[in-house]
Amino acid sequence: VKLTGRNGYQFFNKTMQQNAERTAYLQMEMTKALNDQGFELYFQPIVSTQNTHIAKAEILLRWKLHGEFVSPEEFIPIAEHSGLIVPIGKWVREKAIKLINQFVEQNTPIALSVNVSTCEFLNDELQHQFIDSIKSCSEQSCKTAFPFELLTLEITESLMMDQHQNIENLLIRLREWGIKISVDDFGTGYSSLSYLANFPVDQIKIDKAFIQKIEQGARHKALVEAIASMSNALELTVTAEGVETQTQLDFVKTQKVDDIQGYFFYKPMPQQEFLALVEKQFCS
Ligand code: C2E
Ligand code: CA
Ligand code: CA
Ligand code: CA
Repeated sequence: VKLTGRNGYQFFNKTMQQNAERTAYLQMEMTKALNDQGFELYFQPIVSTQNTHIAKAEILLRWKLHGEFVSPEEFIPIAEHSGLIVPIGKWVREKAIKLINQFVEQNTPIALSVNVSTCEFLNDELQHQFIDSIKSCSEQSCKTAFPFELLTLEITESLMMDQHQNIENLLIRLREWGIKISVDDFGTGYSSLSYLANFPVDQIKIDKAFIQKIEQGARHKALVEAIASMSNALELTVTAEGVETQTQLDFVKTQKVDDIQGYFFYKPMPQQEFLALVEKQFCS
């Protein structure tokens, strides 16, 4: 009995140590990647429910380490804990702003959304940096007024929960410029619905966990229906995320959902492929 207990203990310890080593390793490699252009942006087109045209795309970070992709599910939390998400997030937004500008110049106006971690807003200093970087980059990349309405920031419920007055002020300011604020993974957090009524947001993304249970029965459908109708009552734009099957698509279409994102239409793709797709849509 003692032996098993001890083995169990050692095993537990070893896993923990391996995890810590992997985290430290990834953190170090991420710092290098940031300096050596080791990150890449992928684009997942989002189609309008009405005509399945590409109206928007979500930018998703990709990182290849020694020839293999590391999942964002693994490296984003490490970037958040280490603070590396701040320069990474800034880099992603600057790329997005430049690309929006390019789209407008070539007459293919596609809206781009970027993910923002709650820890990028954590204090006054970071909030100033956040505002400044968007402002200066948009001024640099655009001769005339930058079309802020083509930029969406995807935040999560945790940001609304933190209930800092200054975060609310920051979002209000960004929205005054025309930037759209979207609540990502809606329904998976613990925020109370009252935040939704008070917080300055434009859009809701129904989490893929809800969409993917649609086939499982009426109760799951009812949940999607409820989220969609509540969002509509609050006059928010609704995106269904993670639509993979015809059944899911058919159901979502019966709901007041504005946009669809999911493998059924498009998977995230490299920039070149995305640009070619956009060009094809606008030029044919
Ligand atoms: P997210 O923001 O919820 O992004 C949507 C995720 O769902 C993406 O995973 C996308 O590839 C995946 N997805 C889209 N459609 C489908 C579908 O039909 N089926 C399935 N099974 N999956 C689908 P990905 O790219 O692995 O990203 C994971 C998460 O990493 C993102 O979840 C987001 O929270 C985070 N992330 C990615 N890029 C960034 C970034 O630049 N900044 C920050 N802060 N977080 C990021
Ligand atoms: Ca997102
Ligand atoms: Ca999401
Ligand atoms: Ca997610």
